[in-house]
Amino acid sequence: MVSSILVTGGTGFIGSHTCAALLNAGYDVIVLDNLSNSDSSVIQRLGQICGREPSFIKGDIRDTSLLNTLFQEHSVSAVIHFAGLKAVSESVDKPLMYYQNNVGGTLTLLTAMQLANVKTIIFSSSATVYGDPVSVPITENFPRSCTNPYGASKMMIEDILADLYTTKSNWRIGRLRYFNPVGAHASGLIGENPIGIPNNLMPFITQTAAGLRQEVSIFGNDYDTPDGTGIRDYIHVEDLANGHLAALDYLNQNRELLTVNLGTGQGASVLEMINTFEHSTGCQVPYRVVGRRQGDIAECWADTKLANHLLGWQANRGLEDMCRDAWRWQLRCLRD
Ligand code: NAD
Ligand code: UDP
Repeated sequence: MVSSILVTGGTGFIGSHTCAALLNAGYDVIVLDNLSNSDSSVIQRLGQICGREPSFIKGDIRDTSLLNTLFQEHSVSAVIHFAGLKAVSESVDKPLMYYQNNVGGTLTLLTAMQLANVKTIIFSSSATVYGDPVSVPITENFPRSCTNPYGASKMMIEDILADLYTTKSNWRIGRLRYFNPVGAHASGLIGENPIGIPNNLMPFITQTAAGLRQEVSIFGNDYDTPDGTGIRDYIHVEDLANGHLAALDYLNQNRELLTVNLGTGQGASVLEMINTFEHSTGCQVPYRVVGRRQGDIAECWADTKLANHLLGWQANRGLEDMCRDAWRWQLRCLRD
C-alpha cells in the first residue's frame, strides 16, 4: 500500500493550497474535512491544478470510529492538521464550541494516530499565541499569552503536543506558527471564501474593490507605527503551503518537536496594503478610518531565521503578488 499524507481541513483555505503543493511534489493525499467552512468543489479544482485529485473523506476529526477506520484502511505516514475553527470573535461568544472542536478534535485525532502508530503530525498554530509582543520581530522563544478562546485553544494544543513529545514514544511534531496568510493560488482556482462579512483585512479589501462592500473600515490610525495603522506580516498562502512541505521533510529526517514561525519577516501597515492593492490591480478601494478594534495590537511580524535555517525555507512572494492573486480569485468567485 502506498503511504499517504492525511490532511485534516484540506478543503479549507490553507489546507487546499498545501494539498496542491503536496500533490505537485508527488505525495498521495487524503483529505478529511467536515465542510463546515469549505466546499467539496475544491477537490475537483485540485484535480485541475495538479492533474490528479486527493482522496476525499467527508467527516469530522471528533469522530473516533471514522478515524480508526480511516487509519485501518489507509496507510498514512503523516498528518497535517488544519481542521479547526478560527474566528476570534465567534470564539468569545461560543467558547465551548471552540474548545470542543479545536482541542477536543485534536485529542481525538492524536488518540487515533497513537492507536494506528502514525506518529508524525504538523499542526497549524498561529502568531496569536504571542499575544501583544513586547517587541518585533518575534522569535519563537517569546513568551506566549492569549486574550480569547481561539488563541487559548492554540496554546492548549501546542502544550498537548509538547507533552506527547516528552513521552519519548517516537513522535515527530511540527508546531507551525502562521502570521497573516493572504492571497490565493496563481491558477485562480482556489482561494479563501469567507462566509458572511469577512473578519480579515485582505478579503475585506477584495470584496470592497469588487463593489460587494461599500468601504474598508480602517481600525484605528493612532497606533505607534509610522502611518498610525496596524502592522502585520502578510504571507502568500502558496509560500505558507511550501513551508509545510519543508517541515515534513525536516521531520522525516529529524525526530523532533519543531516550533517555527512561518512569516515573511516584513511588516506592512493597513494603509500600505490598501495602496499596494490599488497599485497592483488598478482598482479603487474606498476606506474610512474608524476606532480601534478591541483586542488588536499595533504591530506583529516574524523573525524567520529559525525557519530559514532549519527548514531551508523562506517566503519569496511579495505584497503585489498577494494582492494580484487575491484579486484574481475574487473575480473568479464573482463569476462562479
Ligand atoms: P479554513 O476554515 O479555511 O479551513 C479549516 C477547515 O477545517 C475547513 O475546511 C473546515 O470545514 C474544516 N473543519 C473545521 N472543523 C472541523 C472538524 N471538526 N472536522 C473536520 N473538518 C473541520 O481555515 P484556514 O484559514 O485554512 O486555517 C487552517 C488552520 O490554520 C486553522 O487551524 C487555523 O486556526 C489556522 N490558522 C489560520 C490563520 C489564518 O489567518 N487563516 C492564521 C493562523 C492559523
Ligand atoms: N483591519 C482593518 N480593517 C478590517 C480588518 C482588519 O483595519 O476590516 C486591520 C486590523 O486592525 C489589523 C490588520 O488589518 O491591523 C490585520 O487584521 P486581520 O484581522 O486581517 O488580522 P489579525 O488582526 O488577526 O492579525
